[in-house]
Amino acid sequence: MTTTLVPYDEALTRYEPVLGIETHIELGTKSKMFCGCSTEFGAPPNTQVCPVCLGLPGSLPVTNQAAIEGIIKIGLALNCSIVEWCRFARKNYFYPDMPKNFQISQYDEPLCVDGHLDVEVDGETYRIEIERVHMEEDTGKSLHVGGATGRIQGADHSLVDYNRAGIPLVEIVTKPIVATGDKAPLVARAYATELRELVRALGVSDVRMEQGSMRCDVNVSLMPAGSSVWGTRSETKNVNSLRSVERSVRHEIERQAGVLDAGERVIQETRHFHEDTGTTTSGRSKEEAQDYRYFPEPDLVPMAPPREWVDELLTDRPELPAARRARVRAEWSLSDKELQDIVNAGALDLIEETVRAGAEASAARKWWMNELSRRATEQGVELTELPVTPADVVRVSALVAEGALNDKLARQVFDGVLAGEGTPDEVVEKRGLKIVSDEGELSTVIDEVIAGNPDIAEKIRGGKVAAAGALVGAVMKATRGQADAGRARELIIQKLTG
Ligand SMILES: [Zn+2]
Repeated sequence: MTTTLVPYDEALTRYEPVLGIETHIELGTKSKMFCGCSTEFGAPPNTQVCPVCLGLPGSLPVTNQAAIEGIIKIGLALNCSIVEWCRFARKNYFYPDMPKNFQISQYDEPLCVDGHLDVEVDGETYRIEIERVHMEEDTGKSLHVGGATGRIQGADHSLVDYNRAGIPLVEIVTKPIVATGDKAPLVARAYATELRELVRALGVSDVRMEQGSMRCDVNVSLMPAGSSVWGTRSETKNVNSLRSVERSVRHEIERQAGVLDAGERVIQETRHFHEDTGTTTSGRSKEEAQDYRYFPEPDLVPMAPPREWVDELLTDRPELPAARRARVRAEWSLSDKELQDIVNAGALDLIEETVRAGAEASAARKWWMNELSRRATEQGVELTELPVTPADVVRVSALVAEGALNDKLARQVFDGVLAGEGTPDEVVEKRGLKIVSDEGELSTVIDEVIAGNPDIAEKIRGGKVAAAGALVGAVMKATRGQADAGRARELIIQKLTG
């Protein structure tokens, strides 16, 4: 069945989207959730396993305290209440990548409840209510071999890697997100972005979406504009980039509007998002509620985190992203837009480090946001991946501030640093980059330029001082940009009118 998509803007004239986002975050603990196996990413298959995470008979799980500390930090940062007592539960289902045939999770007794996270889109704040944050363990990974797409369809056989089985996984579930209108895809993206920043600031996960340590399931439903009865939702599983979160919501709005316009009903199902086409396709139907036969995990004691410990985690936590943004906005006198550009460019850490290392905020911002951002874009890499450090930017800024370099020469210094020619000082030395402010040298060049441009010189003699710009340009050209332009201008006017 193919659905005619309804253009986005048109869909929004007739329907109001309701979102819900479930995010899984793998914690960066050294060992797994219930055993001592390493969690290191990228090890050869099935080398980080033991009887506990393979679910062998007679093995018993033990809760990882560092993981509980991690989830409580996340819960507190999301303004949740941390319950005084809760339990793990067994979620029973069969899947080849889950060796125990059940997953230890939490069901009706999650550890963190009733929080919120504020996100900003186009200058407006949206409060995303958090229903729950609970602790569970990750599954292994299936690898389907022999097919063209790496999917199970068309594969010759499948292999299972249990290294990931048992890695601590935190699930964060929002309450329904309503009244976002045409901003729904942006709000979804802003939420995922802010959540990622928050968890990264807490230092409890590397939250790398491309490696799967953070992944979002995005629920979307539509209701007729003005209605208060929610529609049937679809759930797009394991969306693994911020951009895809936004695109999948957008696509589901266009698709579901098409289904509803045709007088059909939206099917409750999981869907897969395809990066290449920006569309979703049908996965497994969820019309029959699955019975996971949850029951309290009999092999683990209940969790009752002491209040003093929770209070300590709250007191000792690092500065959170929202507070940090407010601080740098004030310290660096930025507009909302300027700050947003810095955050979007992924430059906040770099600029802050550069300022801490001694550069003026305005200079640090200028180099990272203009010159270096442009180069990162040209090379198709993240700003942090450029081979230039905050210390390099501090040094170049200092050379500009003391008049040894102008902006044009500074750019050439960055050329050299990026080309691996060494530190800024080494590049200056090797390339012979320095401002010619030596009066004698500059004076000689100016005399030549005046001699070569008699018409312009005459105008200046006649009082048209503005014409000096053309001669300054000629001086800069003659010195390959290394003259002190201000000083050259003074000297030209002095020579012709003095
Ligand atoms: Zn293990």
